[in-house]
Amino acid sequence: MKVPFSPPRIDSKITDAVVEALNSGWITTGPRTKRFESLLTKYGGHQATLCVNSGSSGLELMLRWFGVGPGDEVIVPAYTYSATANVAVHCGAKPVMVDSGTDFNISLKAIEAAITNKTKVIMPVDIAGWPCDYDEINALVKKENIRRLFRANTKEQETLGRILVLSDAAHSIGAFYKQKHTGSLTDISVYSFHAVKNLTTAEGGAVCLDLPEPFDNQSVYQYLLAKSLHGQTKDALAKVQAGGWRYDIIEPGYKYNMTDIQAAMGIAELERYDSENLVRRRQIFHRYAEAFSALSWAQLPDFETNDRTSSFHVFLLRIKKITEQQRDLIIQQIFEKDVAVNVHFVPLPMFTYYKNAGYNMDNYPVAYDNFSREISLPVYYDLTNDMVDYVVSTVKDAVNNVLTN
Ligand SMILES: *Cc1c(COP(=O)(O)O)cnc(C)c1O
Repeated sequence: MKVPFSPPRIDSKITDAVVEALNSGWITTGPRTKRFESLLTKYGGHQATLCVNSGSSGLELMLRWFGVGPGDEVIVPAYTYSATANVAVHCGAKPVMVDSGTDFNISLKAIEAAITNKTKVIMPVDIAGWPCDYDEINALVKKENIRRLFRANTKEQETLGRILVLSDAAHSIGAFYKQKHTGSLTDISVYSFHAVKNLTTAEGGAVCLDLPEPFDNQSVYQYLLAKSLHGQTKDALAKVQAGGWRYDIIEPGYKYNMTDIQAAMGIAELERYDSENLVRRRQIFHRYAEAFSALSWAQLPDFETNDRTSSFHVFLLRIKKITEQQRDLIIQQIFEKDVAVNVHFVPLPMFTYYKNAGYNMDNYPVAYDNFSREISLPVYYDLTNDMVDYVVSTVKDAVNNVLTN
């Protein structure tokens, strides 16, 4: 049996939707993108949604919207995908990396210790779909002593009057924290619809706006439409309407818009996301948990508690008391049995670029411990029970082999 890691679910619903968009006479940003935006707004329970061409561009757009630049600091977890930190680098700001907790997510204590008068944004990441403790993070940025440290340099920073919480929700669409979906848990959340994510448009992303008063999320959305399309005051569809050819450029904006072909996939996926995709992902998590829970060497991830439910993105299994080398050997043996597993993530300070930029892995002991013992198991709609059972037996064999040799 061969088990791939994360193939997208492509069936006739998706291909029909894409063909319909292609034949509609309008393939770039248009009616399907607008419809996807309003469906996402309803789904997440936030105030407005801007669809973009990737999660990374959504994150970067919002850092630039807030006016993040040279001299500023952005707090990110060391344990994440590189996009989270790179977007801060693109803006000329410094990503300040902090350690994680044993649940893989950014540590609140570490955030608090890293805040300075240069901190503009905190970017928590819902690793593998497990929501961060947002009540704690939102309370922290509102604390009087933290507010007093904040230096506002732009109109947006002045209006907010505190550190912005920009959640990297690339993994967590559909996850719950205290009965609320990710999207409405912080000032701004960004989803990714990359091919390996829970809900995919091949490439794509969405910015979920839930900014507090006196921000008007609708006007912020209108402004972001221009900012994500070269500062143009009209999109391509508005320009081709009769008499609509004149437009203005209000700033040198970016080119981050989503196409209607992508949105067509997104709409089809979202319509069955809760009823099919999440249901199957949850079953797979439970099947893994049941299979591994009795084994003394297995450490299971959190995925359902009283106040949180994961989006079941990937299953982060840890093996107790092993070294990074042993973990690598286990993965090697699993691969030899045609099962694709992965590691989420190699902490950023272990990569050449960040190492050269002065980050040192010794400062992130929990992130290292999580990484060194972690194996990500596949979770996706088309993964059958037989495949799950094969993954389980393959992992068990590999672990037993390595632990007894
Ligand atoms: C995938 C991912 C992103 C970036 O999303 P893209 O749509 O690929 O740009 C950002 N953060 C994390 C944690 C991710 O896994």
